Amino acid sequence: MNRRDPEGYYAILGVSQHATATEIKAAYRTRAKELHPDRNQAQDASAQFRLLNKAYEVLSDPTSRASYDTIVLETANDPVTGAHHSKPESIVCSSCGKLSAQPRYAIFFAVKSFLLLTRRSPVQGIFCSACAEKKAYRASAVTWLLGWWGFPWGPIYSAHAIITNMLGGKRPADVNARLAAYQAWYFVAVGKMNLAQAVAMDAAELARLVPSNSAGAEVGGTLDQLLRATGASTNRLKNSWRLLSRPFYVQAGSIAVIALGIWLGYENTPASQPPRGPKTYVGNLSATPRLQT
Ligand SMILES: [Zn+2]
Repeated sequence: MNRRDPEGYYAILGVSQHATATEIKAAYRTRAKELHPDRNQAQDASAQFRLLNKAYEVLSDPTSRASYDTIVLETANDPVTGAHHSKPESIVCSSCGKLSAQPRYAIFFAVKSFLLLTRRSPVQGIFCSACAEKKAYRASAVTWLLGWWGFPWGPIYSAHAIITNMLGGKRPADVNARLAAYQAWYFVAVGKMNLAQAVAMDAAELARLVPSNSAGAEVGGTLDQLLRATGASTNRLKNSWRLLSRPFYVQAGSIAVIALGIWLGYENTPASQPPRGPKTYVGNLSATPRLQT
């Protein structure tokens, strides 16, 4: 069984872990036809069909897909006793493949509309902050261009997507606390204790955002052990994710320009003008007639 696909959800759909939401949907349709028990006479067809449906249910929802993508990190190891089955793998950015001290699972949204149709596609994965910036820009650019033109959801989804992307995407706290705890443990395993401490502190901060009754709350206990093992540190990571500063300012800037444009347009409309009837004709006396050449 693939560690990164513990339940075989990607395998049954026949897609890679990096498949887009559209690819997953298309694969589901194709596979559902192939595996439907009415058509498929194989003995395990109905079990396969159930697995396929379960896979689609989990992977078509961006948040549950995020949990599934990182589930392996929860069970992989015990940071203190080192009870671990294989050599630790670091978490790398799913886009550029680089090792980052602050990888985050982020979900961005791109909206496309046409008349009555509006489609919101998630763009998700584990990213370093530089790649997250690029993903945020791209998803927002698509949305700025194509998102608005649907009724009634176009403008609503577009505004939501642009603001979400601008703030660095949707980043489930439980998933990210788990991710950071795992990365801290990885740094312990390779003997980079200073970095491990700093990342563990970062993870502890993320874990504080997880509601204590949720599934991700167990990370807190793991972290306490981890921090006891590494010792608390005054080294703090500079938060490279804070508002993903550049996308935030560029996009906030665009919104401000549009808002200013609307406001100026509004201000320049004379309020005293009578609401009905033809406009009073005002001849422009200073204008000289243009000669046609
Ligand atoms: Zn990257």
